[in-house]
Formats: sequence, C-alpha cells, structure tokens
Amino acid sequence: MMQWTIQKLLAWITEYLTKNKVDAPRLSAEMLLSHVLGLKRIELYTQFDQIVEKDTLDRLHGLVKRAGLHEPVAYLVGRTEFYSLEMEVAADCLIPRPETELLVQRAIEFLRTREGKQHVCDLCTGCGCIAIAIAKNHANAHVVATDISDKALAVAARNVEKHGLQERVELLCGDLFDPLVPHLDATQWDLIVCNPPYVSAAEYEALDKNVKDYEPKAALLAGEDGLDIYRRIVEKIDRFLKPDGALLLEIGYAQGPAVRELVERTALFSTITVEKDNQNNDRVVTARRTTVSQDSPPADRSV
Ligand code: GLN
Repeated sequence: MMQWTIQKLLAWITEYLTKNKVDAPRLSAEMLLSHVLGLKRIELYTQFDQIVEKDTLDRLHGLVKRAGLHEPVAYLVGRTEFYSLEMEVAADCLIPRPETELLVQRAIEFLRTREGKQHVCDLCTGCGCIAIAIAKNHANAHVVATDISDKALAVAARNVEKHGLQERVELLCGDLFDPLVPHLDATQWDLIVCNPPYVSAAEYEALDKNVKDYEPKAALLAGEDGLDIYRRIVEKIDRFLKPDGALLLEIGYAQGPAVRELVERTALFSTITVEKDNQNNDRVVTARRTTVSQDSPPADRSV
C-alpha cells in the first residue's frame, strides 16, 4: 500500500488545485495540510518525510475536495493572516484582503503624527482585522468598531481576545455610526476608518465563484453603483470626526473619482488623496479635516 508522506501530499494537493484552477495552489495546499496536521507551514518542510495517518488523510481529502470546488481555503481552515497577525474568519465575515493592509498602514502613520490617546472608529469591522491591526501597532489607539452583523462581531470578539486587546478595542453592533450616538457627548473621533461593502450590482454578478458563492453578500454589495455606504458615511461625518481628524476609506478599483467627489462635496476636508494599491487599482481615500482655526490669524511660517 502507498504511504502518503507530507511531501507527496503537498505535491498531489497542489496538482489537484492547479487542475481545478484554484488561486495560489501551493499556498492553499500548505494551509490545508498544516491545518489538519496541526503544524505551522514551515514545519511541513522540516517534517517532509513524515507519514500521514489514515484518519487525517480522510479529513484532508474532504477539505481538498471542497477547495477544488472553490470554497475559500481561509474558511476551510478558519483563519487567515492580515498585517502579519493571525485572524480567525468564518463564513459570516469577509476574508481580509492583502490590499486592505494599505489602509491600516496609512491609519498607523496618521496616528503616529499625534500625541496622547487617540479615538479611532472602525465602521463595518467584520472580523475586526482593521481595528485589531491598528490597536496592535499603535499603543495610544482606542478603537470602537461597529458592524451591523452580530455574527461577524462574534468572530471579531474572538479575534480581539486572541490578541489581548479587550481594553482597547470595543465592539458595538449596529448600522454604521448608530451605535456611537450614545458616546457622542464624550467623544469625537480622531480617525474614522472604513472598508465598507463597495461592489456594484453589475460587478457583483461577475464576481469569482469563490467570492460570490461563499462570502457574505451584505459585506460586498452596496447598491446599484457600489457607492451607497460612502454616501451614508459622508452625510454624518461632520458630527463624528474631530476638527483636525482624518477619514480613511477603502474603495473599489475604479471608484477614486466618484468617492473623491462625494467627500469633496462635504466641504469639510482640506486635503483628499486617492491612492492606488500595488496592483495599480484605486484603493484608499485619505481625507484630512481642516485644521485652520477660524478665530486666530494664520501662523507666520517664516519665523
Ligand atoms: N475587494 C473586495 C472584493 O473584490 C470587496 C471588498 C469590499 O466590498 N469591501 O472581493
């Protein structure tokens, strides 16, 4: 009888996933195999010749078959990596995308320009990846994260705990800013970040099977043109953002001009930038609120 070693399995799964046109077949094979064996990915290579037992093979086989049908591997193994942090994921929340790391990077850079406790609000937090990555990388950040899905927030709560951030990341269930209203007397926010649903109706129909058939529709689709949530955010932003605060939004690959216009129309922001990700797609809008005080003369920059 053929003995299946880790090495042989990796080769076989990679080939099977490649044949079934699954993205990143080698990485997916490593994730599935390390998951069933309870090993780190690197340990697969240090234990290449280890023979895998029958019951583990059976479990693996079921998962590989599902992956071959384009069920996302992150859901199959229940976790993914974001900003070098392990995040639990489940079908109730969107799988964190690498592009979203740019938003986190800009958030941390903004916070580093400021002194003292920073109030950060993360709307549509999902599994909590943005809130957690910010809090983990900026000790002064106190984050309130909201989501309309209590199921997504249950995943976020486990991630907050896993990273020991219960003191600095608070999760509230409700639509966008709604759960923040009771806090409003005490707090306005230094930084508001959001990776909302932003897929248009036409784009939604054309999404890859692994996204469309498995990820939550409510986390992706945002009305006919994909801009619904941005409209609702900018409508309320004045009340929630400090006079010198910043708004950071993740956007779809071609939404730069439309979202810039929506933000511009508020007339609240002194600078608005649209950045592309490393695939050359529009990805992050940064809007800085005006800091010039109305009652004091402009600072003399020459001295
Ligand atoms: N970028 C994601 C995708 O294309 C969409 C994420 C979102 O709507 N926030 O699948």
